[in-house]
Amino acid sequence: MRIETLAVHAGHTIDPGTGAVTPPIHLSTTFEREADGSYPRGYLYIRNRNPNRDALEQCLAALEGGQGAAAFSSGSAATMSVFQALSPGDHLLASVDVYYGTARLLQEMFVPWGIEVTFVDMTDPGQVEQALRPNTRLFWVETPSNPLLKITDIARIAQIAHQAGARCVCDNTWASPILQRPLDLGADLVVHATTKYLGGHGDVLGGAVICKEEDDFFQRIRQIQISGGAVPSPFDCWLVLRGIRTLPYRMRAHAENALKVAKFLHQHAQVEAVHYPGLPEHPGHAIATRQMRLYGGMASFQVRGGRERAMEVAAKVRLFIRATSLGGPESLIEHRASIEGPGTRTPENLLRLSIGLEHPDDLIEDLAQALG
Ligand SMILES: *Cc1c(COP(=O)(O)O)cnc(C)c1O
Repeated sequence: MRIETLAVHAGHTIDPGTGAVTPPIHLSTTFEREADGSYPRGYLYIRNRNPNRDALEQCLAALEGGQGAAAFSSGSAATMSVFQALSPGDHLLASVDVYYGTARLLQEMFVPWGIEVTFVDMTDPGQVEQALRPNTRLFWVETPSNPLLKITDIARIAQIAHQAGARCVCDNTWASPILQRPLDLGADLVVHATTKYLGGHGDVLGGAVICKEEDDFFQRIRQIQISGGAVPSPFDCWLVLRGIRTLPYRMRAHAENALKVAKFLHQHAQVEAVHYPGLPEHPGHAIATRQMRLYGGMASFQVRGGRERAMEVAAKVRLFIRATSLGGPESLIEHRASIEGPGTRTPENLLRLSIGLEHPDDLIEDLAQALG
């Protein structure tokens, strides 16, 4: 089945008790056992399994083309579960421009716990090969990256990982399975912040890990999910599954609008640089064209005149909302360096855009008046 059809149907069944077409939300924390102590319907206790979480996990696995999925209460909890499945003494390679929260998790929690981490430029396979150690167990890829939209060749990096006897994980939050399927390209695991495009409406926090194969490593992630309990509520699962139904069409509109906005910014005299992989000038354009269906809804640009001018532009927008996060129907603008704080690698004149589902001409007009 094609992905548009999967987005509508995967994880959905008609409720056997009532015939309800839209799934009910199962709030029960506990489930009845038979007289002999068995629980033939498969449910025992909400932390272990819940029908809404099952449905969401089935759908996510189908969308990514994986064997299984584990849903978490946030993208960060999903990310943590992968690191927790490693053992102290293991070495991990991550992109230099990995999501800021992921870099902080590694530095503040997992390095003290005994994980060795090297941050490398994943767009340069030579650098990746040089950073390998005998104990390298995991590669953490994120493409397009935040906030410079760098493109990593997933197939190439997965190949290097496998030659080194390591696993390749891809944080696919920014592309979503509609635009990019890392498991098809050779990755072993996919991580999502479902908070973003999958939920799609800015009203639910969630995450997931999807595996190509339900191997021992994934069983550890499952164990961490169930025993650790950082699981999403039934209602949160229901919201994400509901959001996914329109995901293929939302992603098309996000990407179409973002390309128009990027082209507008690219020719604007007040703009020093535009970072959007859909522009032929972007250094990752050829790889993005190969591994993505469309170029996504995220873009960033650098304003001429430095930090002050960038802040001024962000202050003058009327339609874009000044806020962090991404993937919702409304367009957002963010001065990334100030949210990331001291030690940020982000250029001070950079503004990041999450392009929403408004009419692209309204977005362009707003940026035009703000740039002056
Ligand atoms: C938001 C985000 C996360 C973290 O997800 P939360 O749900 O906020 O914990 C991880 N990776 C990427 C790429 C993100 O954009």
